Amino acid sequence: MLPFKLVYSDRYYLPIGEHVFPAEKFRHIHDRLLMSGVAEAADFLEPTPAEDRDILRVHTSEYVYKLQNGTLSAREELQMEIPYSYELVDAFWLAAGGSMLAADCALRDGISLNIGGGFHHAFPDHGEGFCMIHDVAVAIRRMQADKKIQRAMTIDCDVHQGNGTAFVFAPKRTVPGETASRTAVTIPSLGTMTISDIPPKDVFTISLHQENNYPHWKPPSSIDVNLLDHCKDEDYLSWLDKAVSAGLSQFQPDLICYIAGADAYREDQLGGLDLTIQGLKRRDEYVFQTAREKKIPVMVAYAGGYARNVEDTVTIHANTVIAAKEVYS
Ligand SMILES: [Zn+2]
Repeated sequence: MLPFKLVYSDRYYLPIGEHVFPAEKFRHIHDRLLMSGVAEAADFLEPTPAEDRDILRVHTSEYVYKLQNGTLSAREELQMEIPYSYELVDAFWLAAGGSMLAADCALRDGISLNIGGGFHHAFPDHGEGFCMIHDVAVAIRRMQADKKIQRAMTIDCDVHQGNGTAFVFAPKRTVPGETASRTAVTIPSLGTMTISDIPPKDVFTISLHQENNYPHWKPPSSIDVNLLDHCKDEDYLSWLDKAVSAGLSQFQPDLICYIAGADAYREDQLGGLDLTIQGLKRRDEYVFQTAREKKIPVMVAYAGGYARNVEDTVTIHANTVIAAKEVYS
């Protein structure tokens, strides 16, 4: 048996029809983990949906009302980029419940993975980029409300910037076009790391992403690493170390929330970085080794993955569990 829990439900499936988001990937990851012997049935916990009061710790009551009553405007549905349905709402409430459960298990066992979630583009009052509800933010706010943690750090390695995360936890909210007060470290031909001059409140946000990609407006995270196109394994891992080391030198979290997007992969349809499957696994290992060394619990959520061959996406996500098993066994 694994020394930690995996959180999963068959109902994580998103009923969005023919779509670039492979909605069936969650079940494939679950099946792969079982069939390859990485995990056994008893390693999995089935989550229950988040309660509305937990969703409302992050999202506005107006937005939640619209979701529950099917009254999003056509523009709002378009911005979410997935077709609205009541079943979809249920799937997102369940993903948020899954991240809450994974956070709770991580605090007990040192690590836990939600085989889903990571919907980091959701804002308090609207959804976008395939994300309706910000499950990770909901989990952090619930852990804080239960007084299980005070401070959290998000490490977002999806190829797209964690705009929802940055916005939700910003010490000072910004609007598009506003220049944020930040210190920048630029390495020509490799990218730029910006560190916010405004200290975080209770959540420190780190995002490593491709600069030349969605979202167009990137609200400032505590640390943003804006990578140039075609960034490769070694450069990526070096930036990751720079960003995480800088973050942990100025902020001591009680919980790390790691958003392990699979779309920094070189064969991704919505990404423009050049990471290999091995490089992505080394990324996971780095996060886990660092967290373990510093004795900081880590919860994982999965986020994007749009590889031309969906089996590659499944492999990358399954490897995150294998990396955790290697580091924590
Ligand atoms: Zn993404």
